[in-house]
Amino acid sequence: MIHRLPGDGTFDMEAAFERRFKGQPVSPGIAMGLLRVEARGCAAPPVRRILPTEIEEEWQRFDAALTRTEEEISGLKRRVEKVSGATEAAIFDAHLLFLRDRTLMARMRKELPARLQNVDSVYYAVVQNFMEAIRQVDDPYLRSRVVDIGDVLQRVLKNMSPAQQGSSAASLREPCVLAAYDLTPSDTADLNPNVVLGFATEAGSAVSHTAILARSLGLPAVVAVPNLVVESRVGLPAILDGYTGTLILNPTPETREYYERVQSEKQKAYEALVEMKELPAETRDGRRIRLAANVGFAHEFNAINRSGAEGVGLFRTEFFLLGGGKLPDEEAQYEHYKQLVEHCAPHEVIFRTLDSGGDKLPFEVLEEKEDNPFLGWRGIRVSLSRPAIFKEQLRAILRASAHGKVGVMFPMVSGLTEVKDVRLLLDECREELRAAGVPFDEDMRVGIMIEVPSAAMMSDVLAQYVDFFSIGTNDLTQYTIAVDRVNYRVADMFRPTHPGVIRLMHQTISAGIPTAICGEMGGDITLLPLLVGLGATELSVGTHVLPVIRFAIRHLNYEECRRMAQLALQAEDSRTIRALSKAVALQSYPNLFD
Ligand code: PEP
Ligand code: MG
Repeated sequence: MIHRLPGDGTFDMEAAFERRFKGQPVSPGIAMGLLRVEARGCAAPPVRRILPTEIEEEWQRFDAALTRTEEEISGLKRRVEKVSGATEAAIFDAHLLFLRDRTLMARMRKELPARLQNVDSVYYAVVQNFMEAIRQVDDPYLRSRVVDIGDVLQRVLKNMSPAQQGSSAASLREPCVLAAYDLTPSDTADLNPNVVLGFATEAGSAVSHTAILARSLGLPAVVAVPNLVVESRVGLPAILDGYTGTLILNPTPETREYYERVQSEKQKAYEALVEMKELPAETRDGRRIRLAANVGFAHEFNAINRSGAEGVGLFRTEFFLLGGGKLPDEEAQYEHYKQLVEHCAPHEVIFRTLDSGGDKLPFEVLEEKEDNPFLGWRGIRVSLSRPAIFKEQLRAILRASAHGKVGVMFPMVSGLTEVKDVRLLLDECREELRAAGVPFDEDMRVGIMIEVPSAAMMSDVLAQYVDFFSIGTNDLTQYTIAVDRVNYRVADMFRPTHPGVIRLMHQTISAGIPTAICGEMGGDITLLPLLVGLGATELSVGTHVLPVIRFAIRHLNYEECRRMAQLALQAEDSRTIRALSKAVALQSYPNLFD
């Protein structure tokens, strides 16, 4: 049973009754463990029961932490005042005011005896409620103050139990299901899958890099869960269902049994599909599709061959280049790329050059924050403005091409000028290697990602300058319909079947050079008939979904898909297009929808 305490909007999660949260499923699988909660950059302290006789002692501890925090903030204020003047320092007055805010203190006085938990966790819950209330107000200035409150919260928690703090998602030790406000792609990349068995977040969307990473780490994940952080509590038994997007706290024995059964059935069904890895990805009427893998991490290398992938269609080099805090030099890159190429032989590996910016790992910490990072210093724009570093990557890729079949492609290309600039640098690298007698494949294929609408519109021209295209449906959708791929507020508008997107894909494929699809759309069994019908000859998808896609392709009829795609190209809205594709999918492989 969940009680709403009178008037203050605080939830009592004490009762051991099952509670379900719904969100958007973004990475399949089931995780079971104890819940960890992490607000915006601030981990919830562990909960400890206290006796009524301990209340006063806890309050003293709280009060002492407030005093220490007061001193810290006042000291900070004095320092800033000296350096930058009174205006800049005024922000700390707001922090000080919040610290002993009357309403907050009254709430704490009431909650501590009501909850009978250590004061740190009561304070955390109460402040989270405050922050949530402020996030809902119309006034943007007030809303922006949430950050300051978060700051004060962290300081007070640290001063209550210094040893607890500094914990972040990455440093968790005990196996758990993680509930967080949001995780950045780098937080996610740092997660240890042996410890964090799955995660749910309040923010996020299916095509954010956080979700993509969760899939490549094989972590069940659910995003866009309203009020998750405020209403959940550390240490509760939890089940995360990455198939339906459900987080269950305090599951009943029946629920637990049900999920144990689902987990084992799904695992068996998946293994049966993996068994068929030797069968070609070919439609019933003989249309062959190259089915390759999307990878980003070395730990995924084994999964490439295990899934039966025909090489790698998209190697996201940014996680290797930027993930370790220090840019690897040409030699280290060469070794890493060579390892992957040899591992995948005789299949091709397509390296995508550094794609930083947007929601990805930043290449450099910018002095001035970009207002529109997705339209800013991203992808090929970063590489072209750092030619020496870019050439190290190009040479490393060229050198790896001496060890197997290699392709290179460039992200975020918006038009021909960038292609020409890139080709000049590539030629320079070839010259340098030839002069030094270093071997490489003179015929290495060169391609570009089609993920900016202008590139799709110019695809007939661009096709004369490159060997292949790879359509990045995540960004192509984002940029075509102007819907931020990571903003949960517009997540329901993110529709890769928007007629505008489908027409651009059709235009790109019609340019007549080999064209792959490497965005998340390629791993969606509902949309597969549409992609095949539009004429894609190559799909690159995550290794977790690859066996499923192979099975689905083998149950499709290309002619039927082609006819359906013609209708889709005439359709007026995304729903109709999706429904057309889904009808073919349902009829071709109904058992995949069970
Ligand atoms: C895409 O944009 O569809 C894509 C494959 O690239 P990324 O998701 O890495 O931006
Ligand atoms: Mg992209």
